[in-house]
Amino acid sequence: MNILDRYHAMEYGPAPEARNEADAWLAARDFSKALFIGGDWKAASGGKTFETSEPSSGKLLAKVSDASAADIDAAVAAATKALPKWSAASGYQRAKVLYAIGRAMQRHQRLFAVLETIDNGKPIRESRDIDVPLAIRHFIHHAGWAQALDRDFPGHKGVGVVGQIIPWNFPLLMLAWKIAPALAAGCTVVLKPAEFTPLTAILFAEICERAGVPKGVVNIVQGGPEAGVAIVNHPGIQKIAFTGSSEVGKIIRKATAGSGKKLSLELGGKSAFIVFEDADLDSAVEGLVDGIWFNQGQVCCAGSRLLVQEGIADALIAKVKTRMSRLRVGSPLDKNTDIGPLVDLTQLDRVKDLVAEGARQGAVCWQPDAALPASGYYHLPTLATGVSPANILAQEEVFGPVLATMTFRNTEEAIELANNTRYGLAASVWSENVNLALHVAPQLKAGVVWVNGTNMFDAACGFGGYRESGFGREGGREGMFEYLTAKLPLGPVIKPATISAKPAEQPDGDTIDRTAKLFIGGKQVRPDGNYSLTIATAKGKLAGEVGLGSRKDIRDAVSAARACKSWPEATAYNRSQVLYYLAENLSGRAGEFAARLIELTGATPKAAREEVDQTIERLFLYAGLADKFEGRVHQPPARAVTLALHEPVGVVGIVAPDSSPLLGLISLIAPALAMGNTVVAVPSERYPLLATDLYQVIEYSDVPAGAINIVTGRTAELAGVLAKHDDVDGLWLFADADTCAKAEADSVGNLKRVWTGNGRSLDWASDEVAGDALLRRAVEVKNVWVPYGD
Ligand code: NAD
Repeated sequence: MNILDRYHAMEYGPAPEARNEADAWLAARDFSKALFIGGDWKAASGGKTFETSEPSSGKLLAKVSDASAADIDAAVAAATKALPKWSAASGYQRAKVLYAIGRAMQRHQRLFAVLETIDNGKPIRESRDIDVPLAIRHFIHHAGWAQALDRDFPGHKGVGVVGQIIPWNFPLLMLAWKIAPALAAGCTVVLKPAEFTPLTAILFAEICERAGVPKGVVNIVQGGPEAGVAIVNHPGIQKIAFTGSSEVGKIIRKATAGSGKKLSLELGGKSAFIVFEDADLDSAVEGLVDGIWFNQGQVCCAGSRLLVQEGIADALIAKVKTRMSRLRVGSPLDKNTDIGPLVDLTQLDRVKDLVAEGARQGAVCWQPDAALPASGYYHLPTLATGVSPANILAQEEVFGPVLATMTFRNTEEAIELANNTRYGLAASVWSENVNLALHVAPQLKAGVVWVNGTNMFDAACGFGGYRESGFGREGGREGMFEYLTAKLPLGPVIKPATISAKPAEQPDGDTIDRTAKLFIGGKQVRPDGNYSLTIATAKGKLAGEVGLGSRKDIRDAVSAARACKSWPEATAYNRSQVLYYLAENLSGRAGEFAARLIELTGATPKAAREEVDQTIERLFLYAGLADKFEGRVHQPPARAVTLALHEPVGVVGIVAPDSSPLLGLISLIAPALAMGNTVVAVPSERYPLLATDLYQVIEYSDVPAGAINIVTGRTAELAGVLAKHDDVDGLWLFADADTCAKAEADSVGNLKRVWTGNGRSLDWASDEVAGDALLRRAVEVKNVWVPYGD
């Protein structure tokens, strides 16, 4: 055998990570008292425990206290008690505590990594080099935010007591993503880890004790869905932050509807990994290894759909298979292991079932010829080719080491395939042509896009999804907003609309047809049902009639809004000019609108004129801000820049209140338009003529057809249709409390972003309900990672 042969024949020797420290830690704990509440270690009040076992062997690791509803009560009580002092502490004081947590974690870094690997099954290389360092970075990064609150978030304060529920795939990292921003914002927390992976959270609670976290600021309860439900429904909690499956996310959206709780949902994904024919194929293959086989594919943003350009598909697949054959499947505590076990037998069975079903539906599933360890929940890395877009492997989140492959011919097809999913978490784009990659990135419906890379994360860069991947961001500036609230000046309580069925009195001798139509797709159209609503003046006379919009009219309006591509694609300068033009044209008719306000609402001439002038001013404001409310560039500790782009939410449904009927409507429509959204607006049920009078102003102002659609009619009914419509991406709702609650519950279909006044209107004349407070709601932040260097 010559040297070269010997070299090729060389096998990796075992490189086991020592586990004695972790075993000693496990042996020294009483896990039947594992609830960390108010700074004390408590047993579950009902005495129940659940088991956590080691995925690589199936062996029992610990029997951990299983929190009951009474324990959740106790944890919320402890968090509530600790809140006043913690929220009143100076930013510097809170920063010191966050920093101390980060430093204490650094001192126990190895123990965290080994414990995580033992409990979850992820390769030690990953927990040691990725999970734990990123978690530490999160605390240290957020120490800075604690001190920068007044500077960066003026007028904001912490939301209060926060309930946080996390999954098992990144137990410590998800805990850090939840707890660090909450503490920085001055909130206190009740956090529940997943029942498969309770251990590192227990070690973290010990770190809190050592780092001087005041008692009750961090409470960690253990248990499964029941404990989760008790957190979600607890009336003493002001915000729920959830990471987990879309299925449970939807249950939580429904459960919190109408409660006034702030909510963020980080859910599942089916992320596209797009390889163009000019990509560096070897790099793309290495990217894929990270993209889909990192953590055995149990990653929310796993690049589980490989979309490859036709001309290079065979070459890329051949390289992927060669690389897959070299992936080392084995003990997660071996430093050479690439693929460890899945977290649990139930997860393994689920993955196997999905692969079998995918094959039944026509996919060709290939696995390398490797032996599986004798025990443990292992699944070989799997490549599915011949996958049709409707195949279960292309549609469902497998959450396992399974890659589904499809081909595309050109850029348009790549984008279309990538967006053909109900999720919208992440995507990777591989091309040596950065122009192409940056052309594609904004067109992908995903909260994070990695150019020539994958699975890059940093505490300074927001992470989170669109559509059924949830809403809200974690990390960075946008992540801080999730734990902050600014009290907007309130308007009147909104009562359910009660337009009298009695026809208004006809003015003497007046026979002119005053029925205003709907405004859909740039045209005035009759309502589908051909019914009208009679609108009275303040004095009870007939002011006119408006179309009674129906489900069908809302559907037409949403289609028109969706079809309007020229508005979201217009430059910000262009949108700004149109908004200025709207203001100018409204100002030309200011007298008429003031007269209408007097006639309908009984406002004094002075008040009516003021409302019209403020409306014009607001249009001016958003015209000016259209090209100023911009994204940022982050410089994470990697050779990359991250472009935090502001993108329109999409089609936004707007239900305007009766109070300040002109100003309120425009205060909502204008910021949505400024950021490139298209709008379906339902104006005040009582005073819709102010909106129908706007049709001509809109027609004369170069607003593209479909950018603004107006459907008059019954608020509650139309709000319900908007809430259920899966092509509406956002809903801003100022209606009575019941209508708001119902709309929140009805929004689960596509998990649209819903903003309601919870039955209150706002003081629309106030400067505080203009500008950033609304613009932030009008955008999604998309983080595009662009690496540099060789
Ligand atoms: P899961 O939804 O089953 O459970 C998540 C957590 O919710 C667990 O702590 C669980 O005990 C709890 N829970 C379950 N039912 C509940 C209920 N009805 N009410 C309240 N709490 C309840 O998810 P999982 O299987 O643990 O995790 C995998 C999922 O998490 C995947 O879909 C993955 O994509 C997602 N995930 C998303 C992100 C992200 O940032 N978007 C990150 C990691 C994981």
